Amino acid sequence: MDSARALSDARPTPFWLEDPGRPEALPALVGDTTCDLLVVGGGYSGLWTALIAKERDPSLDVVLVEGNEVGWAASGRNGGFCAASLTHGFGNGLQRWPGELAELERQGAANLQAIEDTLKRYGIDAEWERTGEIDVATQPHQLAELHEIAEAVAAHGLELTVLDADALRAEVDSPTFLGGVWDKEGVAMVHPAKLAWGLKQACLGQGVRIFERTKATALAEHGGGMAVRTPYGRVFARRVALGTNVFPSLVKRVRPFVVPVYDYALMTEPLSAEQLASIGWRGRQGLGDSANKFHYFRLSADNRILWGGYDAVYPYGGKVREEYDQRPETFRTLSANFFRCFPQLEGLRFTHAWGGAIDTCTRFSAFFDTAYQGRVAYAAGYTGLGVGATRYGAEVMLDLLAGERTERTSLEMVRSKPLPFPPEPVRWAGIEMTKWSLDRADRNGGRRNLWLRTLDRLGLGFDS
Ligand SMILES: Cc1cc2nc3c(=O)[nH]c(=O)nc-3n(C[C@H](O)[C@H](O)[C@H](O)COP(=O)(O)OP(=O)(O)OC[C@H]3O[C@@H](n4cnc5c(N)ncnc54)[C@H](O)[C@@H]3O)c2cc1C
Repeated sequence: MDSARALSDARPTPFWLEDPGRPEALPALVGDTTCDLLVVGGGYSGLWTALIAKERDPSLDVVLVEGNEVGWAASGRNGGFCAASLTHGFGNGLQRWPGELAELERQGAANLQAIEDTLKRYGIDAEWERTGEIDVATQPHQLAELHEIAEAVAAHGLELTVLDADALRAEVDSPTFLGGVWDKEGVAMVHPAKLAWGLKQACLGQGVRIFERTKATALAEHGGGMAVRTPYGRVFARRVALGTNVFPSLVKRVRPFVVPVYDYALMTEPLSAEQLASIGWRGRQGLGDSANKFHYFRLSADNRILWGGYDAVYPYGGKVREEYDQRPETFRTLSANFFRCFPQLEGLRFTHAWGGAIDTCTRFSAFFDTAYQGRVAYAAGYTGLGVGATRYGAEVMLDLLAGERTERTSLEMVRSKPLPFPPEPVRWAGIEMTKWSLDRADRNGGRRNLWLRTLDRLGLGFDS
């Protein structure tokens, strides 16, 4: 079958957000209000910040404003790979913070466990499955790279299970798989939107006041605190935490550090028992291939396959726009690559096709800081691995607002910042050059050209 025909009934919307459990939006803020802490943004960053602030001090008056609906953006449309890594993977962490990577890994593992514990504590059903993730090689040079990573991980006292082609194909069967490494503990699969909605409910239960359809439009000092304008009112807050991710930051100097990179995903119809048996996948792990232009794929609770990644599209000018969420040429490529990976599923159809903006920064992992003499904190730049790390970012923002030195704020990773992106048109040209070079490296046994080697030396990069 022509793989494009498998897309003919695909709905142009994120599968996860179509759930019948999607809650009604809460009313917008009308008039003025005061609070101790204002959280801006109702994705994971904002929701975790509000919830943990209440857990740290139940007497704190916390308000959260969300410009659209809680969980509508990246938090409700991602792949649902919830990873312990705070550094966009071990390799990136090793390159940038070798001296503190063991500590970063320890704190990341504790963060992942804290997410699991929170879901239990509040009775949140987010289809959490601690299955781990298998990184697979589909080309010989990727196999060598995966083995190198596994050795480096072992040298840090951590463990990955190395799978040869037979062992891997006994887990998940694709003729394209040459081998892989399985991180059994460090990744869980989650229903991303249910995680956001569950956190919203937990926040409300702890007394957080949430206003949806309430965009914060301006931030200014006011007495010893801050005043934040919204369309129909104002919030006077002692402290403000910004969890606005890829959207233009209310602190203007943060904007050059983050660019939107559009990532796309497909969801299939549920697999029949025979179709599932033809792949195996009894361990229900998340999978990712190891190319620069990589795919990520996983099962949903009702045995659909989510298949995403590959193209990472930076729109010239760096705006976040709804029209970018649909990209038929990428969906066609994704569909063709899906059937190349799982030819035994020929005839399967896609029910959903969507995209979303990833908050990419040049070091691929979040950065944190304060503004307005410590009254405002922000965290951004998770670059496609924020499902778990946003909870950590929430803790960091609260540490910074409290002016506390903690195990988190002592880290170089937390204290330092990435290099900003240059302005247009150099930004677009640089990103396109990098994407072209990464694609070439994928087709060329992984060999990195002079451009990529120079970026590596400067600690700069582009990823999704
Ligand atoms: C297609 C896709 C797949 C992904 N897959 C994965 C994955 O498998 N694993 C992983 O770890 N990560 C993944 N990510 C990344 C992950 O989803 C994000 O890192 C994470 O959701 C970021 O959460 P957040 O709360 O910071 O941002 P968001 O979810 O974007 O939330 C920010 C919120 O702030 C609101 N906002 C912005 N400005 C204002 C304002 N001025 N006033 C009021 N509200 C405002 C927005 O409306 C939005 O709701 C993926 C992302 C995409 C797009």
